[in-house]
Amino acid sequence: MRSVLVPIVCFPGLAPARPVPWTSGPTHRPSRPPAPHPLECSVEDLWVRGGRILDPEKLFFEERRVADERQDCGGRILAPGFIDVQINGGFGVDFSQATEDVGSGVALVARRILSHGVTSFCPTLVTSPPEVYHKVVPQIPVKSGGPHGAGVLGLHLEGPFISREKRGAHPEAHLRSFEANAFQDLLATYGPLDNVRIVTLAPELGRSHEVIRELTARGICVSLGHSVADLRAAEDAVWSGATFITHLFNAMLPFHHRDPGIVGLLTSDRLPAGRCIFYGMIADGTHTNPAALRIAHRAHPQGLVLVTDAIPALGLGNGRHTLGQQEVEVDGLTAYVAGTKTLSGSIAPMDVCVRHFLQATGCSVESALEAASLHPAQLLGLEKSKGTLDFGADADFVVLDDSLHVQATYISGELVWQAEAARQ
Ligand SMILES: [Zn+2]
Repeated sequence: MRSVLVPIVCFPGLAPARPVPWTSGPTHRPSRPPAPHPLECSVEDLWVRGGRILDPEKLFFEERRVADERQDCGGRILAPGFIDVQINGGFGVDFSQATEDVGSGVALVARRILSHGVTSFCPTLVTSPPEVYHKVVPQIPVKSGGPHGAGVLGLHLEGPFISREKRGAHPEAHLRSFEANAFQDLLATYGPLDNVRIVTLAPELGRSHEVIRELTARGICVSLGHSVADLRAAEDAVWSGATFITHLFNAMLPFHHRDPGIVGLLTSDRLPAGRCIFYGMIADGTHTNPAALRIAHRAHPQGLVLVTDAIPALGLGNGRHTLGQQEVEVDGLTAYVAGTKTLSGSIAPMDVCVRHFLQATGCSVESALEAASLHPAQLLGLEKSKGTLDFGADADFVVLDDSLHVQATYISGELVWQAEAARQ
């Protein structure tokens, strides 16, 4: 059993939900009155044992001893580990490539994204023929994170049941619609759904509602995207069980004041009571204009989920790269189809998206961090174990400096990545 005591300042907005009466205790924290509000309390030390965050007050009074190990990460901010629910690959790996050894590619990406603060993710497959799903999906099981890499929460299957008109980069030849036995058709296309966590589909397709109901009944999150749905069709899909919007603004009808389309879900008053609609945003400074980011965030801040939507060129560095059938040219944080100025996909890692989102929206630091941690966890129904520093949660967290650069990443309380500077 491993215990870790991390002497860093917990960011107030992400502190445990219960105020801690810190007038005395196992740490060197100076006396001060109890925090007036849970979100304003702060903790100097985070106590971890058996991979979970412990209630330090309970630990002190029941065990009367301190944890046996102390690690100084030199960081200032402690936040839950980031969760990326839409990532197509990276570091030259394309999850949608049906090779014999998909697992090693997923493992490589899982390991490399630790340096960007990502502790769990949903590998994402773009529209593919059935034989590719049948080969790839069984090779990417749900897997816990650790020193080997970020945890796999389940696949995100984006397509092939999407709009021809808004297919974006998805290959037209493999798009599908729902036929008479819609859900059986989906099963025939994807194969078994055990490894699947999110399905993106276009709700305007006939019989989509029975599919949405079947998927949500199996605990699979349905996301609306690559779609020409009007607001009414989007609202109906939410009533059937959809809870997510795939990369808001991208690959959907543009906002129109008389029919705002899927975008209108952010402020709709025709949704089931208490239902929070989540929406993915690619905050890489290229795919979404900062003004559009601000509009979405100000309209519905608690639903915003940062996603990278990263392609295999993520992490490859400047220059020309061959990826599958495509040649891409990477220039900083932008990837172009080689020889053109056509964007070829997103290559900004999650921590860059967090920093850009913070800067573009002027939101609080805790809002920016929650958009990459708490909100995706809530979307997946994992908020008791992920995306939070609450007692009892998995001890997946990141240590950041004041400018939100990742200093260290922990999974289940174990240090799995550390910046060079933080090691000295
Ligand atoms: Zn997409």
